[in-house]
Amino acid sequence: MFVKISHLYAENFPQLTAPFRPIWGPKASILLVDDKLAAQLNLSPDEILAALQSDDVAEKTVAMLYAGHQFGQFNPRMGDGRAALLGEVSGQNGMMFDLHLKGSGATPYARGGDGKAGLGPVLREFLMARAMAALDVPTTGSLAVIETGEQIWRDVPQPGPVPGAILVRSAASHLRVGHVQYIATMGDDALLSRFIEYVLNRHNMRADAHENMALSLLQNVMERQAALIAKWMSIGFVHGVMNTDNMTLSGETIDYGPCAFLDEYNPASVFSSIDRRGRYAYGQQPAIGGWNLARLAEAMLSIIDDNVETAIEKAQSVLSGYTALYDAAWRDLFAQKIGLFEVHKDDGDLIKELLTLLAKHRVDFTQFFAELGPIFLGEKKRDADNFAAGHFGMDLAVWYEWKNAWQSRRDLESMDEIRILDVMRRANPLRIARNHHVEAAINAYIYKGDDGPFKALYAALSNPFEQREEWDIFDAPPQMNSPPFQSFCG
Ligand code: AMP
Ligand code: MG
Ligand code: MG
Repeated sequence: MFVKISHLYAENFPQLTAPFRPIWGPKASILLVDDKLAAQLNLSPDEILAALQSDDVAEKTVAMLYAGHQFGQFNPRMGDGRAALLGEVSGQNGMMFDLHLKGSGATPYARGGDGKAGLGPVLREFLMARAMAALDVPTTGSLAVIETGEQIWRDVPQPGPVPGAILVRSAASHLRVGHVQYIATMGDDALLSRFIEYVLNRHNMRADAHENMALSLLQNVMERQAALIAKWMSIGFVHGVMNTDNMTLSGETIDYGPCAFLDEYNPASVFSSIDRRGRYAYGQQPAIGGWNLARLAEAMLSIIDDNVETAIEKAQSVLSGYTALYDAAWRDLFAQKIGLFEVHKDDGDLIKELLTLLAKHRVDFTQFFAELGPIFLGEKKRDADNFAAGHFGMDLAVWYEWKNAWQSRRDLESMDEIRILDVMRRANPLRIARNHHVEAAINAYIYKGDDGPFKALYAALSNPFEQREEWDIFDAPPQMNSPPFQSFCG
């Protein structure tokens, strides 16, 4: 018995969708399924393809319309060019999830693109979404990879044919800041209000956060995005393309096209080949989050207040809370990384001093924090000098000064060392999706037909806090002087 798929969004907002029949390709077959996610969605892995391909679903599948600021430039009409909303399913705990396809053919909003996706980027998104979920980061889910049986042409990283694929994605919803921006261009306040009400409801948001529901939406999205971006920062994640159409209202990470994790700590890190000016560099992400929220506010001014000056004032008064929300979330996460529970006034400075030192020496972000607890609080205390010399060679005095300040600060905690070490272990993964491993695993899959490395990496990244000898290779930073990694949208 197939799962029940509803079509609430398509039924409620026909003016924001276009009917679209997914194109599955000549020989569509399931390559990979995320079993854990399938269980969360109450889907049986064997039934997924047949359920999604049913005529009933195809008839009600839609492409979603939205606008967006791309690298700062407003594009009033974007939408799903190669993606489609199949509908919604009810998962465990009665939560509603969208089921979405990416790479299922050119929609009416495709603007010349081929509507397809290469197997490489689809495998990447499959891996990244699981890795992020395992790191406790709110994220869309990659449910399955479908091979279409067709070869498609791609120009990056080099021109040539690649296997075509479709990603089956789930999400709390696929509604983005860009959706609100699109509705604003329609000038239909009634529709905008109805849309906002739908979002507040769908995501269990506090509709009464402010006297006006647009301000309430702004408040809720702001809280979720501040928490999300702080989380990204705490694991060294660089999203890579934080356009407003890639920022969800739900607070989930979406669109793993050009994302990458830091190896060396450097706030200026950029991996995406198209981000030439570093707009979306690691260290820019909190500020870009604020910029995007201002675009969300702008798009709702007409229903915030009839007087535009007053509307702007009200929106600004909500937005002015962003920095404090982000800073608090950031401080909590980084405090845990260095084993602090209690909140002290100067903790932020202590963390920033450490990050300055890490940046100066281009220290491996994940490895440094993963070792910090076990070395200074655990059994291995004797390795501390090697650790210091390895990371800070010429700057040992600065390091020891920081370490002593850290020790004095820890002495003020009421928690014992064992508990502190435990917190640090849970805040500092052993393993992130390192670019060189991800690329090697995907290349082996596609060019050598060997799925072994990919499956091993997938298992390792599904358990980022667990040490296992067979996974140790994935924990190591790239070799010194490896060429810089570049990511491509595909
Ligand atoms: P993204 O970079 O994934 O955020 O995509 C930006 C926009 O380009 C979205 O509207 C996509 O639907 C569209 N797009 C990306 N790749 C393709 C493609 N191969 N065919 C059609 N539209 C695409
Ligand atoms: Mg996108
Ligand atoms: Mg993309």
